[in-house]
Amino acid sequence: PPGLTIRNVSKRYSNAVQALTNVSLTIPPGMYGLLGPNGAGKSTLMRTLATLQEPDEGQIVLGDIDVVNQKEAVRQTLGYLPQEFGVYPKASAEELLDYFAVLKGITNRAVRREATEALLKQTNLWDKRKQKLGGYSGGMRQRFGVAVALLGNPRLLIVDEPTAGLDPAERVRFLNLLSEVGENSVVILSTHIVADVAELCTNMAIIDKGQILLEAKPLEAVAAL
Ligand code: ADP
Ligand code: ADP
Repeated sequence: PPGLTIRNVSKRYSNAVQALTNVSLTIPPGMYGLLGPNGAGKSTLMRTLATLQEPDEGQIVLGDIDVVNQKEAVRQTLGYLPQEFGVYPKASAEELLDYFAVLKGITNRAVRREATEALLKQTNLWDKRKQKLGGYSGGMRQRFGVAVALLGNPRLLIVDEPTAGLDPAERVRFLNLLSEVGENSVVILSTHIVADVAELCTNMAIIDKGQILLEAKPLEAVAAL
């Protein structure tokens, strides 16, 4: 699978906040950690990679796709898990996942059923598939978010501060799930929690005040601190 290359990406908001300055990263397939404190620019970079906003300058390339200029192509192969997965309390997991699969362009009913069943099993929600999402715990909602993000086998999975609201047991389950899916695509995990990166990621970068301070393997990075 192809990697992701980010070259000299900068972003300044209209209130003159310089959120990203010349960010360059080479991200291979697998789990990649983006570690930084609040306000460092993580969400800005994640939203930019997810084509939800554009950089002022710079290039982003995923395999043969120009992420900034070929948004539709990226979106076809993108999974995005935001901080809080928005809930539709009256829908069951099964109904909503099927609905998102339709939106993702999986029009064939049998194909959709097979895909959603596999994802509900993978995220350990199969037994709870008929339950309304309003009754789900935070951890279950996040796992459901992973199921949605994985529809269509994305080559790029963006995960933005996912463990913030989870209790320790849910957190471990969630991180294990991510590491399982991380083998066949580029998975970028943005977080301010060092342990999330140290436990899971094969490569990482540290960002602060919109600038990359370090790119390394987690163990080397910890040794350098
Ligand atoms: P992080 O995700 O690491 O907390 P953000 O990317 O959310 O960092 O924010 C980086 C900086 O940009 C912060 O100073 C933040 O206040 C600012 N910022 C983020 N989004 C906007 C926005 N839409 N408009 C103006 N400033 C923003
Ligand atoms: P988070 O910090 O949890 O990632 P958001 O993505 O909503 O939350 O926003 C990122 C940061 O940018 C927050 O700190 C928020 O206060 C700030 N922010 C968002 N929109 C604006 C804005 N229009 N002007 C200034 N700061 C903003």
